[in-house]
Amino acid sequence: MTEKTTIGHWLDNSIHIGGSGRFGDVTNPATGEVTAQVAFADEADAARVIAAAKAAAPGWAAASLTTRTKVLFRFRELLNERKEELAAIITSEHGKVLSDALGEVSRGLEVVEFACGMPHLLKGSHSEGVSTGVDLHSKRQPLGVVGIISPFNFPAMVPMWFYPIAIGAGNTVVVKPSEKDPSAVLWTAELWKEAGLPDGVFNVLQGDKVAVDALLDSPDVKSISFVGSTPIARYVFERASQAGKRVQALGGAKNHMLVLPDADLDLAADAAVNAGYGSAGERCMAISVVVAVGPIADDLVDRIASRTKTLRIGDGTRGTDMGPLVTLAHRDRVASFVEAGDAAGAKLVIDGRESPVDGEDNGFWLGPTLFDHVTPDMSIYTEEIFGPVLSVVRAETYDEAVELINANPYGNGVAIFTNNGGAARKFEVDVEVGMIGVNVPIPVPMAYYSFGGWKNSLFGDTHAHGVEGIHFFTRGKVITSRWADPAVSPTGGLELAFPTHD
Ligand code: NAD
Repeated sequence: MTEKTTIGHWLDNSIHIGGSGRFGDVTNPATGEVTAQVAFADEADAARVIAAAKAAAPGWAAASLTTRTKVLFRFRELLNERKEELAAIITSEHGKVLSDALGEVSRGLEVVEFACGMPHLLKGSHSEGVSTGVDLHSKRQPLGVVGIISPFNFPAMVPMWFYPIAIGAGNTVVVKPSEKDPSAVLWTAELWKEAGLPDGVFNVLQGDKVAVDALLDSPDVKSISFVGSTPIARYVFERASQAGKRVQALGGAKNHMLVLPDADLDLAADAAVNAGYGSAGERCMAISVVVAVGPIADDLVDRIASRTKTLRIGDGTRGTDMGPLVTLAHRDRVASFVEAGDAAGAKLVIDGRESPVDGEDNGFWLGPTLFDHVTPDMSIYTEEIFGPVLSVVRAETYDEAVELINANPYGNGVAIFTNNGGAARKFEVDVEVGMIGVNVPIPVPMAYYSFGGWKNSLFGDTHAHGVEGIHFFTRGKVITSRWADPAVSPTGGLELAFPTHD
C-alpha cells in the first residue's frame, strides 16, 4: 500500500495515516474499480485528532473577528476558483454526474458566503438603563471542539452546512466523512490551509463506527452535528446526549409530491423526474412518492414516463443525466425493492433494471424505475429506498393525500403542485414536514434560512445553518452591569431581598 493510494486523517494541517492498521476500500461506482484505501481510525488515532483540535481551540476563539472572516473570505475565493476540481472528486467517488456535483459544491459555497457575514451574525444586543445605572448586554461565544459526521450522498455540501459557521464562530472542528467518499473533505482541508487557517482548527478523522463513537464519547468534543440514516441519527442523538453534548442529528426521508387536479401537469412531470432521479435518487430531498389527486393520475403518469424514457444513464463524466449508485451492495438493495414492488402488485411502468447504460460493465447501474398504483402497505412505500425508484400513489381528495403524508414517520421535505393559492396556503399550515415547496420539488432553503425536517428526519431541535446554525455553534451570555454615577445615584447599601428594578 503506497501513500499515494491511501486516504488519511488531517490534523495540524497535514495528512496522517494513523496507526490502526485498518483500512476500507474506496471505489469508483462508474467502473467498479477500487481506487484507494481510506484509513479507519482506532481510539488512539481519534484521540490524536481531537487533541489537535482541543489545543487549537483557545487561540482560535481569541482570534479577532476580522482575522477569522479574512480566512473565510479567502477560503470562499479558493473554493470558487477550484470548484471543478472538487466536483470531479465527488463524481469519481460518489458517481453523481459532473453537473450535479458542481451544483452540490455551489450550494455548499452559499454557506461559506453566509458565514463570511459572521461579524454581523455574532452581534449581541445591549439595553441601556434597565434599572437605575444598570445596563444589560448579551454575547455569544464558541463551544470549543465540535464534531461533524456526514453521509455519503453529499460528501462536500453536507459538511459545509456546518464547518464554515462553526469556524467563523470561533470553534475548532473534527469532520468524520463517509468512508464511501472520503476525499472531498480532505481536499477542502488543503484549501483551508492555503486560505491561512491555523493548525488544528480544521481536522478530519476518517473511519467507521469506531471513529464516530470516539467523537460521541469524548468529553473534549462539545457538540455533534450528524447527517445520515434515521437509525444511526437516533443512535448518535441518544449516545451523544447521554455524554452531555449538544446534538443535531438529521435523519432519513421519504418525500412526497402532491399534485392537485388544477396543477400544470408538464411542470409537475418535469419536477417529478428531476427530483426523483437526479443524483440517482440518492438525495435526502429526493421525491420518492408522487401523490396524484383525482382524475389526473393516468395523464400525469404518462407524462412522467415519457420524460423518464429520454434520460441517459451512464458514467457521470460523459455528459449523462444519471450516474450509478454508490456501491454494489446499495445497487443490489435498491434493485431488491424493484422486485418487491413488482411482487406486491404495484404496476411497473418503467423497469430500471433494463435501462441501457453508457458506462463500464462493472459499474453499479440501475436505471430510473417508475411504479404506479402503489399502496401505503407496500415496502416500496414504507421504506426509504434511496435510489432511482419513484412511486405513484393515487388519492381521491386533498384531505386523503395530506392524511397519508402526515401519517408517514418521516418529515423532511414535501412539495405541492397546484395553481390554487388557497390550497397551497392551506397545505403549508396542514402538513407536518420541515421544508415545503410550492410548485418547487426540492425545497432546500438558502444558507441564510435553516435546513431540517420533522419527526424521524431530525433528532434534537436545531436545524442546520441560518440563524439556528449560529445558535448551535455558540453559547449565550447575558451580562448585567452597574456603573453608577456617584454624583447622582446611591452606591447601594445592605438589601437582602430579591433584586427588582426601578
Ligand atoms: P449512514 O447513516 O449509513 O452513515 C452516515 C454516517 O454515519 C457515516 O459517516 C457513517 O460512517 C456513520 N455510521 C454508519 N453506521 C454507523 C454506526 N453503526 N455507528 C456509528 N456511525 C455509523 O448514512 P449514509 O448511507 O451515508 O447516507 C444516506 C442517508 O443519509 C439517507 O438515509 C439519507 O436520507 C440521509 N441524509 C439525510 C439528510 C438530511 O438532511 N436529513 C441529508 C443527507 C442524507
